[in-house]
Amino acid sequence: MDPADEATALPATPPSAGAAEPLPLPPKEPTPALACTPQPENSSAAAADETQEDADVCPFCLDPPVAPCRTSCAHLFCTACLVRAFRSKPAWNRGQCPLCRKPASVYTARDVATGAPLALPDVDTIFGSVYLQGGQSGVASYHFDGPEDCYISYSTAPAAWRLDDGSPPPQRKAFEDAAYEPATRTFTGTVRWSTATFGGDARWEYTMIFSDDFRVISGGALQAYGRGGSAPTRRHRFPHKLRYWRQRDAPQGLAGCAFMQGSRMGLASYHFPAVDAAYISYEAAPPEWRLDNGTPPPQQKPFLDPAFDPATRTFTGSIDWSTATFGGDARWEYTMVFSEGFSAIAGGSVKCYREGSAEGEGPSSEDEFGVDLMYELYVEEEAQMHHLLNGLSDEDEDN
Ligand SMILES: [Zn+2]
Ligand SMILES: [Zn+2]
Repeated sequence: MDPADEATALPATPPSAGAAEPLPLPPKEPTPALACTPQPENSSAAAADETQEDADVCPFCLDPPVAPCRTSCAHLFCTACLVRAFRSKPAWNRGQCPLCRKPASVYTARDVATGAPLALPDVDTIFGSVYLQGGQSGVASYHFDGPEDCYISYSTAPAAWRLDDGSPPPQRKAFEDAAYEPATRTFTGTVRWSTATFGGDARWEYTMIFSDDFRVISGGALQAYGRGGSAPTRRHRFPHKLRYWRQRDAPQGLAGCAFMQGSRMGLASYHFPAVDAAYISYEAAPPEWRLDNGTPPPQQKPFLDPAFDPATRTFTGSIDWSTATFGGDARWEYTMVFSEGFSAIAGGSVKCYREGSAEGEGPSSEDEFGVDLMYELYVEEEAQMHHLLNGLSDEDEDN
C-alpha cells in the first residue's frame, strides 16, 4: 500500500477530525424515546411474502390493489400502501420491494392506469445544483453551474489542506473534459494537478452517478493518478468514501417541515404540511403503544388550535385524548421552539393533563424539548444517504 496514503489522506475527503466530520451512520436499530421497542420489520408484508406473489392482491392489505402501481421489479401494490410503507422510515421516497427486496422508489414505481411515475423529482438534471460533501459547502463541494462550468470549490477548505508545494488549493478547480449523460445520470470529468500535485496526485478522473431524484451521488468513483502514471494509484467510491448530497436551502418557515426522534418516522413524529394541518404520526408505532382502551393510537393525530409565531419560531397546539386516554392523559399541551434554520426543536415542552383535572390545576407531568425529547428536522437528502449507506454490505466497504 502506498505509504503516503494514510499520512496525507485524499484531499477530496475531509480529515476525520476537525470541522469536516464524515457523515455518522445511524444505528441500524435506533431506540427512540418514550420507552418503546421498534416495530418488527414489515410484519404484514413479510407474512404475505412469496405466497401472494402471483395473486392479484396487494401484499400489504391482501385486497385487490386500489389505484394500483407497479414497481420497476414488476410487483403490484396499492399506491397508498406502497407510499405508506416507504414513509414508515427514512428515506420517505424509497425503500425495498417487500416481495423481492429490490430497490424501489416513488420515482421508478408507475401508476398502472397512466404509466406515469408516482412522483417526479424536484430537478431533472445536475445543472444548477451544488453537491456538498457531508453537507458542507466549499469543502470540495461540486458545483454544476452549467455544462461548460463545472468545478470543485475549496473556498472553506480546512487550512491543513495544502497542495504539495505548500500553497492552498484554488477556490475553484475546474472539471476538464466534463460530460454529462442524462440517460444514465452519469457525469465524467478530470481534475488536473499538473503544476502542483495534491496528495501526490497529478490527476483525478471522476465518474459520478446520480440517484433517480438527483438528491445524492449514489455511485461512481474517483480514480487518482500520479505524475506521468497511467495506472491509477488510488480509487475512492461514491458513496462508500465520498458522501455527497444536493444542497438544499434551510426551510424559510415551519410549513413543509417534519421532525423525528431517533431518526425514525411515524414514532410520534411531528408533521407540518401547513401550520393549520399539523399532526403527530403514529404510522410506525410499535404494537405496545396502546391507548388506555386497548386500541392502537390513530395513524395521524391532529394538533388542535395550532398557532405559529414566526418571530420567536414558536409553535403551540394541543392534543386531545379525552375520548380514549393515552397513558392516563386526556390532554397534551405543546410549546415547540425551533432552532434557527429549523434544524431541531430546541426548546419548549409538552404538558400532560390527567382526565378530569380541574381548570387551573397544573400538569401531571412535563417533558422538555432538547432535554427529555430530542427531535430533529427530517432532511430527505441526508435520510437518503443513510438509507444508501445502511444498504452497503461489509465487503462493499472501501479499504
Ligand atoms: Zn394495499
Ligand atoms: Zn419486487
